[in-house]
Amino acid sequence: MLQIPENNPALKSFIHVDENSHFPIQNLPFGIFHLTNDTTPRVGVAIGDMVLDLAELERMGHFGPLLKSNPIYNKATLNDFISLGRFGCSIARAQISSLLRDDCPTIRDNPELRKAVLHHKDNVVMLLPINVSGYTDFYSSKEHATNIGIMFRDKNNPLLPNWLHIPIGYDGRASSVVVSGTNFHRPMGQIRPGNEGNPSYSETKQLDTEVEVAFIVGRPNNFGEPIDVKDAPEHVFGVVLLSDWSARDIQRWEYVPLGPFLGKNFCTSISPWVVTLDALEPFRQNGCEQTPEPLAYLKSSRDFAYDINLELSIKTQQMNKPYTIAKTNYNTIYWDFPQQLAHHTMGGCKMQTGDIFASGTISGSSKDSFGSLVELTWGGD
Ligand code: MN
Repeated sequence: MLQIPENNPALKSFIHVDENSHFPIQNLPFGIFHLTNDTTPRVGVAIGDMVLDLAELERMGHFGPLLKSNPIYNKATLNDFISLGRFGCSIARAQISSLLRDDCPTIRDNPELRKAVLHHKDNVVMLLPINVSGYTDFYSSKEHATNIGIMFRDKNNPLLPNWLHIPIGYDGRASSVVVSGTNFHRPMGQIRPGNEGNPSYSETKQLDTEVEVAFIVGRPNNFGEPIDVKDAPEHVFGVVLLSDWSARDIQRWEYVPLGPFLGKNFCTSISPWVVTLDALEPFRQNGCEQTPEPLAYLKSSRDFAYDINLELSIKTQQMNKPYTIAKTNYNTIYWDFPQQLAHHTMGGCKMQTGDIFASGTISGSSKDSFGSLVELTWGGD
């Protein structure tokens, strides 16, 4: 595990951070926002209930030579910033962390600067953080793949023979990735109720959501040059939560033989804040044992199963508050992200800055840990 000074639990910010906040000084996730009274998009970092305006700090010359020589925060997406690679982003996070510490007077003791660069979260609008160039969704939770196999195919052989050898995935639709909170229409499609007879043109009657963690590529590889499994973390900037909205009835009818298409291409939501791999370092754990042993190009160090608690809640217009219907954890994942990236590029596929690759629905083994409605309701009926 890397020892990163910015992750030291003893660090405190001069900004008050509630003990239940997801945004202590040890996190510092990056996002794109605009002010409610100024629609210019810019890069920000979350701290407690506040957003630190990096574009404004950059304009005033508060960052070191690495970033000063190349204005990088006065942008509508994080792409230019994350193309600096893991090392460049680590330096940026260190600079930001020092500015926010309780022993740094620069912002703390300058009321004018404080007003100019710290915005309350209620006064900002969060935007899609990256220009998504490509989107791949894996299928790497063994429990989820088993559950879907039982429901969609064969309860005696839920996992197809390739599943334990290959990180299975499908190419999703990058243009349909939106920031969390974006509304969308219930999609139309071909469905065939009852699995027999002719299909009909209909709105989906089985709209589903999926609980996923997704990785964002920072440093690209060259066309034709695979990313080695041990180098994968150098190519990833950070993670977002992802909900892969799915029309199960459309999916069920269309997915043979080439996999998901319209059942999953109408909307995929991601969280506005991107948590860096550096910030997740203290939460890295060993993954489960893999049997059979994967081929050599997929042999990773197997310590990339992050301890991230995930909850699925639902709130309809009739409900006053959200109701939690499942709790799961990313650390149950079978194929880790270095394996996914090594597999994705083994034939020479070029990954670009801003590409997203997602874990697939993360389900635990108990019924209250299933990460999609189709599993929680066992078939949607
Ligand atoms: Mn999915």
